[in-house]
Amino acid sequence: MRVTWTGAELTFRLDPDDEITGKASDEHPIKLATNSCSVGGVPDDAHPDLFALAAWTVVAPWTRRRVSFDRAVSAELAEALHAGWGIEAGPVGAEPRRPGARLAISYSGGADSVAAAAMYPEAPFVHFRRVPHRRVPNRWPHYRSDVLARLAERTGRELSTATSDLEYTLAEPRPGYPEHHAVAVGALLLADQLNLGGLAFGYELGSRWLGGDRYVLRYTPDNPMWAPNGRWGKLFAAAGVHIVLPVGGVSEAVTMRLALDSDLKKYVRWCLRGTDGPCRNCGKCLYKELIQAAVERRPLDTPMTARHRAAQPWLKKPPYGGQEMVEYGLARVPGIEHTLFAGVLDYFDATEESTSWLDHCYPPALDEIPAPWRPEAAAYIEANVGLMTEDEVRRVETWGA
Ligand SMILES: [Zn+2]
Repeated sequence: MRVTWTGAELTFRLDPDDEITGKASDEHPIKLATNSCSVGGVPDDAHPDLFALAAWTVVAPWTRRRVSFDRAVSAELAEALHAGWGIEAGPVGAEPRRPGARLAISYSGGADSVAAAAMYPEAPFVHFRRVPHRRVPNRWPHYRSDVLARLAERTGRELSTATSDLEYTLAEPRPGYPEHHAVAVGALLLADQLNLGGLAFGYELGSRWLGGDRYVLRYTPDNPMWAPNGRWGKLFAAAGVHIVLPVGGVSEAVTMRLALDSDLKKYVRWCLRGTDGPCRNCGKCLYKELIQAAVERRPLDTPMTARHRAAQPWLKKPPYGGQEMVEYGLARVPGIEHTLFAGVLDYFDATEESTSWLDHCYPPALDEIPAPWRPEAAAYIEANVGLMTEDEVRRVETWGA
């Protein structure tokens, strides 16, 4: 793989042993559409390791043996690529980048990301905004990235919006991130300018520890995407931008509650379709409504019925994505037996007691937060959430067993 940045335009050329099919780090199969993309709203003089890491979030799935960058990287970054992927990276010759002092929030506007933001009221936001690709047609025009970007602006936080068409480099799924970490390209290229030493993502307990995002549905302390000692964690650290998961120890019920209790409440938006609010008519809206109804202890409020296409996954047997939250909702939403989730009740024996661990924080998640940002997170969790008991910890560590 040969990587070239021309300004903020990324071009990559595959070697004969590279392939146009691959898997993201969560094992999701993906296919390449085109070999260039661009990033806007970023400076062109970042540390070479930042350019290399930003490119790697786009080219990793296609690269088989080696990657050559257009400017020398540090030995530390090359070593992290070799240790994590078995890839020879070069040329080597730059001094490593020293971590900056600040933490930024990778801000999507969803409840998880808003909860992470609430924890660090001084942290600047970096927002990734999808823009059209100049050659690849947009088959997902209902996705309102402009609405999300405008909401991010209204929060009043220090905000950098990076624009990119990198999601159109995929033929399948289209559009999508080649790796989940590609959402960070803008933050990485801005890291010197913003003096960043860490980047906070809104990945919660399910994604970090329960294999939810990877659909493996088992306890995953070794999660290759988000564990500090995983290959991505070490690679980001080598570039002086630590991956930080402020809400990695709490469930989506807790992030929902924290987000809706925060002063950013007005700007929370998990649905990518509606302009004036969530569309209430997609799979994501249905899932989030289940969680919100459980948190607010009220009946489910949705126009969707069992006939709706997006409801079909709930008419099948488990496992479900975000299953821990489904159990949480079944145990707490009044009248759930009269909703489209009625059939799901047959598969679980969920009670408030059996799901109470989802109201507390898994302590090892706080230990993973790098020292400069740990005390603030720990104090916030202590004041607003509380830690899991030993029994509750065991529920996490035997999940899916
Ligand atoms: Zn929706």
